[in-house]
Amino acid sequence: MSLDREQLVEFGRSVLAPSADSTDREESFPPSVITELAKAGYIGSTLPDGQRLSMADYGELSEEIGRHCGSARNFVAVADMVAGSIARWGTKDQRDTWLARIINGEIVAAFALTEPNVGSDAAAIETTAEVRAGQLTLNGAKQWISFAEVADLFLVFANLDGNPVAVLIERDRPGLTIEPIRDLLGLRGSNLAAVTLTDCVVPDHHIVGRPGFGITMVASTALDLGRYSTAWGSAGIARAALEAATQRAATRHQQGTAIKDHQLVRGLLTDILADAETARLVCQEAGRARDAKEPDALNATLLAKLVASRNAFRAASNAVQVHGAAGIAGAGGVARHLRDAKVMEIIEGTTQIQQHLLADHAIRLGRH
Ligand SMILES: Cc1cc2nc3c(=O)[nH]c(=O)nc-3n(C[C@H](O)[C@H](O)[C@H](O)COP(=O)(O)OP(=O)(O)OC[C@H]3O[C@@H](n4cnc5c(N)ncnc54)[C@H](O)[C@@H]3O)c2cc1C
Repeated sequence: MSLDREQLVEFGRSVLAPSADSTDREESFPPSVITELAKAGYIGSTLPDGQRLSMADYGELSEEIGRHCGSARNFVAVADMVAGSIARWGTKDQRDTWLARIINGEIVAAFALTEPNVGSDAAAIETTAEVRAGQLTLNGAKQWISFAEVADLFLVFANLDGNPVAVLIERDRPGLTIEPIRDLLGLRGSNLAAVTLTDCVVPDHHIVGRPGFGITMVASTALDLGRYSTAWGSAGIARAALEAATQRAATRHQQGTAIKDHQLVRGLLTDILADAETARLVCQEAGRARDAKEPDALNATLLAKLVASRNAFRAASNAVQVHGAAGIAGAGGVARHLRDAKVMEIIEGTTQIQQHLLADHAIRLGRH
C-alpha cells in the first residue's frame, strides 16, 4: 500500500497538533493518541502485518508526525523497532503472541539497550542472562528507556555467557522494576524510565534471534530503522521551524514594518529554509537507497541522521531568534521544537558516533 497523504495531514491537524504542547508539558504520552496512531495504521506500517509502506513513505510518515510532535514520532519509532525485531528475528510463537498487539496499539513496547555505564558503546552492555532449567534469569539496569514508564513489553539486551541476546520481558514479571525519569530537556512526552532487573525470570523461548545475534543483528537492524525515523523526524522539526518563523515574521511589526522585511530577518528565514530543504533531501536520498536495497543505504541513513538532526537544531534555534522573547516564553511552539531537536542529536547514535561510523565511507569516497 502507499501512504495516504491526505489522511496523514488530517491526522496531524486533528490528533497531533492539539495534544503536542500538553504532552510535552505533562511529560506523559496520551493513551488516546496511541489508539489513534494504531487506528490510522501508523504503527508497524512497513511490516507485512501492517500497511507494507515503502521506506520512502515511512520517511514521510515520520516527518509529518515529527513536524507536530517529537514524542509521537518517538513512540512510533520505538514500537516499530520492537515490532520489526520480532517480525524479522522472532519465532512464529513470538510473532503470534506479540506482533498484532503492538501494531493495533493494545500493548506498548520499549527497546531497552542503554545502561547507566553503557551508552554509545552498546557492545559493552553489562546486563546478564543465565540459563537455569529452561528459564532465563536476568540481572542488570537499563537507563533512559523511552516509554518504559508505561510499557507492557520490553525488548531487553543482555549477555548470555558472553553472547549478546535480545529477550522479551513482560512488565509484570517479578524482579522487573521501573523508575520514571522526569524534567527532561526534550521529547518530554516519551515517558522515559530506568528499568532494573533483579533475578527476573522468563522462559528461554523469549530470546529473539539466536544467542550472539543480540547486538550485531537484532539491535543493529532496529537502530538502523530508528536512525532513519529520527532523521526524518528531524526534517519534520526543521519544517515546523520554517512554518513558525515565516508566520511570525509576517505578523510581527517593528520599526513600522513586518519584521520579514528587515534584511537580517530575511537572512534567518533563508537559513531556516536551507536547513529544512537539505534535511529533507538527504532523508529522501536515504529512503531511495533503502527502497532500492543499495549496499550504501546504511551510510545514506547515517548521513541523513547526522545532517538532518544538526539542521533541525540550527533551524529551531533560528526560529526562536525570529520570535524574540516570544520564542523562549512558555513550554510550547518553537521552544519545544528547539528542545526536541537537541535530543535528536543524541538518540539513535550521537552526532559524534555518526561521524565516527561515516569516516571510513568519507575516506573511501574521497579516494575516487
Ligand atoms: C529522550 C531520550 C530517549 C532515549 N530512548 C532510549 C530508548 O528507548 N532505548 C535505549 O536503549 N536508549 C535510549 N536513550 C539513550 C540513548 O540511546 C543514549 O543517550 C545515546 O546512545 C548516547 O549514550 P549516552 O547518553 O550514554 O552518551 P555517551 O555514550 O556517554 O556519550 C557522551 C558524549 O561522548 C561522545 N562519545 C561517546 N563515545 C564516543 C566515541 N567513540 N567517539 C566520539 N565521541 C564519543 C558522545 O557523542 C557524547 O557527546 C534515550 C535517550 C534520550 C535522551
